[in-house]
Amino acid sequence: MEHAEILHRCFRCGYCKLPSDYTDLNCPSYLKFRFETYSPGGRMWLLRAWLNQEIETSSRLSEILFSCAACGNCVEHCVFPEFKSDLLDIFISGREELVNEGVVPPSVRDYFKAMIVYGNPYKLPEAERGAWTEGLGIEPYKDQECLFFVGCAGAYDERGQKMTRAVASILKNWGVSFGVLGADECCDGNEVKTLGETGLFDELAKKNIKAFEDAGVKKIITLSPHGYHAIKNEYPKFGGNFEVRHYSQVLADLMEKERKYENNIPLKVTFHDPCYLGRHNWEYQAPRTVLQTLPGIEFKEMDRIKADALCCGGGGGNFYTDVLGGGFESPARVRVREAFETGAEVLAAACPKCVKMFEDAIKAEELEDRMQVMDLAEIVQTRLE
Ligand code: SF4
Ligand code: SF4
Repeated sequence: MEHAEILHRCFRCGYCKLPSDYTDLNCPSYLKFRFETYSPGGRMWLLRAWLNQEIETSSRLSEILFSCAACGNCVEHCVFPEFKSDLLDIFISGREELVNEGVVPPSVRDYFKAMIVYGNPYKLPEAERGAWTEGLGIEPYKDQECLFFVGCAGAYDERGQKMTRAVASILKNWGVSFGVLGADECCDGNEVKTLGETGLFDELAKKNIKAFEDAGVKKIITLSPHGYHAIKNEYPKFGGNFEVRHYSQVLADLMEKERKYENNIPLKVTFHDPCYLGRHNWEYQAPRTVLQTLPGIEFKEMDRIKADALCCGGGGGNFYTDVLGGGFESPARVRVREAFETGAEVLAAACPKCVKMFEDAIKAEELEDRMQVMDLAEIVQTRLE
């Protein structure tokens, strides 16, 4: 169905901003701003008015369109099966048009500039992309079974690097045959695409595909669900076909086959479903298998889980651009309060962006002494020590 036709058929019923039991607000941008134009249905009407030239291109329109966290709750919960899967594409098309017209929020402009000049949002040299491997004895990819694809947050961000090192150490510990591309890896481009810079995304995807093919890569393990999504669902459109798995899926398989734990210190843990692993790729079980297989873990679910999980607010490029911003009703803080209500000592995540968003939110909620954020791999490490 054409985007214009879909925009005309949406009747702004509003179900798309709720979870399946209709009891909470589950669209991060509507939750934060509480204006209808920030909800998915409101965005549809805004886009329709824009398309019909009833409103003009403006920085206000741009702020609203770039506040979507691309969480996919609307895709999951829209009442129209005929077009629900197109909603996010429509919102991204709106951003694409704004990028073409050069009307984007300043933080989005800065993000694109960093990507063009440095190839990563951290403005760090590409040569440092493999610096996280230092001292771990990790080999460059040659003819190993799998490539471990790290992504920008896992390669450059200090907290992300800790996650990357934890995952790599566990893969090594379990004898997985893998290598890394280091400086030859480039950004997966997922955030570039959701921010509407399709031309740049195409370049990044083609560059990575060439690097994978030149190295003879067939199987890929990703750190980030965002990279997992891009390589699994977008790269095949450019002829890049690889067997790609998120590291939680690999860990779940390894841990079911062989148990090699040395301690069972009690730990109460709850888990946050990352949008790009869950709603975008329907993988809900693997992280739970990891946690439920570990000795000593008391696993507690939050109220909103799986397809109803509330996004941390870091998707759709917002992790880098912060168009959503913080505050008491920011999605990360609401989610942290929800996690804390379970009585868990640890909020587990399986994405470097979620980990960082929640760590900031825990500080803002002044809960640092009562709950911490850990990546799944970091929790596994506590059982191996
Ligand atoms: S649920 Fe579907 S039809 Fe209803 S407002 Fe949302 S996008 Fe429009
Ligand atoms: S993708 Fe998420 S943040 Fe964006 S409009 Fe839909 S529910 Fe809201």
